[in-house]
Amino acid sequence: MADKSLDPDDWPAFRATAHQMLDAALDKMQTATEGRVWTPLPDDLKQSFEADLPVQGAGIADTVERMKDLLPYGVGNTHPRFFGWVHGAGSTSGLVADIAAAAMNANLGGRDHGAMYVEKQVVEWVRQMFDFPDTASGLVVSGTSMATIIALKVARDQHQGQLVGYTSTQAHACAVRAFDLLGLGKDALRLIPVNAAFEMDITALKSAITADRAARLTPFCVVGTAGTVNVGAFDDLTAIADIAATENLWFHVDGAFGASGVLSEALRPKLRGIERADSIAFDFHKWLHVNYDAGFVLVRDGEAHRQAFSDRPEYLAEAARGLAAGNPWPVEYGPELSRGFRALKIWAQINEHGVDRLGQAITRNVEQAKLLERLVLDHPKLEMVAPVAAQIVCFRHVGSDELNAEIVLRLQESGIAAPSTTQINGQLAIRVNITNHRTTDDDLLILVEAVTK
Ligand SMILES: *Cc1c(COP(=O)(O)O)cnc(C)c1O
Repeated sequence: MADKSLDPDDWPAFRATAHQMLDAALDKMQTATEGRVWTPLPDDLKQSFEADLPVQGAGIADTVERMKDLLPYGVGNTHPRFFGWVHGAGSTSGLVADIAAAAMNANLGGRDHGAMYVEKQVVEWVRQMFDFPDTASGLVVSGTSMATIIALKVARDQHQGQLVGYTSTQAHACAVRAFDLLGLGKDALRLIPVNAAFEMDITALKSAITADRAARLTPFCVVGTAGTVNVGAFDDLTAIADIAATENLWFHVDGAFGASGVLSEALRPKLRGIERADSIAFDFHKWLHVNYDAGFVLVRDGEAHRQAFSDRPEYLAEAARGLAAGNPWPVEYGPELSRGFRALKIWAQINEHGVDRLGQAITRNVEQAKLLERLVLDHPKLEMVAPVAAQIVCFRHVGSDELNAEIVLRLQESGIAAPSTTQINGQLAIRVNITNHRTTDDDLLILVEAVTK
């Protein structure tokens, strides 16, 4: 055995087994709208994943059977009545792109090979999406959390002194985590209060900057949110851009799901000002339905971005010809050297559908959120607890927090629907997020019926 490769001896048999896996995957996707939303992994399957480290392999047939067994037990985000947190629903082009990517086994840290041109194309498309100059740079990353770390590292390197930054109390925790990881300290990120619409209070932002300057600290960045995770609010990006310009702050936008709204007529007005950002972090795996994981960081000043990460040692030296050409390399724009071919599934999604179609799916979800709001307002047992800015609807069944928490648990456990909960103004809310191209209006009727029965 030791003198043989890991490839199959019997290719026809492997091909047949691989086709079985493909068929099972296609069946799973074709029936995505059917059945239960969430089904917990049964005990016997849980136990089957608690085996000892295999010394002898079980072979490909066993491996494929085990993977087929796993297919029904996702969190449910491929189902049209998954409404929890903010998950994308995935797409069929992601399935085929992952097959192609697996066959190539590309490493996108650098060098001159086909996959690199696909990522360059994706970077260029994102630049066009956000109307950034052609000196901008970008990188495909795992998600908005990583994108935020990269963007704020570039921002940090532009300033000296005792640095402090600003975001709102409704901002995602990835910003404070980035401050922590970058050595700035969690407390150096000031959490600015929000107004009644859960948008950053611009007057409070100005006061905080003034107070910090008076204390001889150095304000260096402000993080606006395009689509907050609790209620989907959009900060006033134009007002924040104005302040950032006056105060010489780096203007970063967390647009994890909301930035995709530049493709949607319904949301584009809320994103006014995003084109003035110094950096944008957002996800393809949320409202653009590219399979997990696929995030992106876009930086206006490509040279500053490169300087923040480019310190190539001699074994990674660039060349004008041969495999080591194709400069600059992605490794010069982020902390990862070895990088998988995430760009292919992003490219495939955009190439298959085009941005108009992807934007229409977003618009439809925004309209569905308005429909759900109407259903809640019209129902005597239901009440709204936050304004609907985009695709998130937070409401309550009349009664206690316990009752509302129990309703959500029962919906999840029954497999009918999967909303999540959050706290709004000290009250527990049933939170329905609709970032799902499979959701129909009927799914919302089923949800309301199940909540109120
Ligand atoms: C999901 C989310 C994040 C984190 O993104 P990941 O892709 O999970 O790392 C950050 N900000 C907002 C507003 C989000 O919704």
